[in-house]
Amino acid sequence: MQKDVAIIGLGCAAYTAAIYTARYKLDTLIVGEEEGGMGVTAAEVGNWPGEVEINGPDLMDKFKNHALSYDLVEHKIARVESVIKNDEGFTLTYQNGETSTAKTVLFATGSNKRHLGVTGEEEFAGKGVTYCATCDAFFYRGKTVAVLGGGDSAVEGAAIAAQVAEKVYLIHRRNEFRAEPFWVDKVNEKDNIEFVLNTNVLEIVGEQTVTGIKLDKPFNEEEVLPVNGVFIEIGSLPATALPKEMGCDLDEKGHIKVDSGMQSSIPGIFGAGDVTNGSNRFAQFTTAAGEGAVAANSIFGYLQSGDGHSGAMG
Ligand code: NAP
Repeated sequence: MQKDVAIIGLGCAAYTAAIYTARYKLDTLIVGEEEGGMGVTAAEVGNWPGEVEINGPDLMDKFKNHALSYDLVEHKIARVESVIKNDEGFTLTYQNGETSTAKTVLFATGSNKRHLGVTGEEEFAGKGVTYCATCDAFFYRGKTVAVLGGGDSAVEGAAIAAQVAEKVYLIHRRNEFRAEPFWVDKVNEKDNIEFVLNTNVLEIVGEQTVTGIKLDKPFNEEEVLPVNGVFIEIGSLPATALPKEMGCDLDEKGHIKVDSGMQSSIPGIFGAGDVTNGSNRFAQFTTAAGEGAVAANSIFGYLQSGDGHSGAMG
């Protein structure tokens, strides 16, 4: 049976939207390949209002349980291979060839971690190179690791890694972090974190697994810093393969361009969360949830009147 809305994604924006669409009495499909989105990679969330501190996986479980408490929400784990516009709406085709149809589609597909593009990165992926310090630090108990980047992910990641690793190098290409001062204070408090600033990584070296990283200038007189693990935390790229294929307008950084109602350039296609250019591209739980709510409201308006720009509030 055709759904009112197919929400693609299983993260914060997607589940928030599903809570709202269910309460608008819309027949909702929520589908994605992996549960939780970027939210599950947050070790400590301290800026979700109402929770002084909660970990990302627990918060995402709450989102999911809340959304799935509504009978109108159907949950599906599958990879969506294509979305095609037809006369009645849209057809989603999954990897196994099965299909679903919906009158509207909400892309809440989030983002994927940016790669550094240096020699050794691919060769040692999963053998010392990973893209989530908070998820993988646990495997480096008592070892030496490097965290690359200067944003929230890197600085939070370094603070979490320092709880288990013996030594953490936080390597950043500039001499200033862009992370929240809360996390910068945390890394400053740790005496097993050493900052390597104004420095770029040229190569990741190793044998069976990573043994070191080659820097563009010596640090403590070493050109190859000996490390057992490298966490690359240099930002993310929006996951826009499907909307791009459909012809949705993207901004210069590759995010889906949305209007204030979260509608894309194609009527009936909406976006929410890290995949859009909304909220000043400030990727947070709070902004993703807000965008999910606005998108659901606009979808309700669109289904009632064919106008996705003004939302249900007129
Ligand atoms: P980000 O804010 O885009 O920061 C990426 C960092 O990597 C920057 O410091 C950047 O350097 C550096 N970088 C980028 N490309 C590089 C390259 N090729 N080589 C070396 N360094 C490079 O990414 P993020 O830290 O993953 O955060 C993404 C979003 O998620 C943000 O909105 C953030 O607020 C949010 N987030 C929030 C939390 C939290 O609230 N606790 C946790 C994680 C993520 P420059 O500074 O020189 O540009």
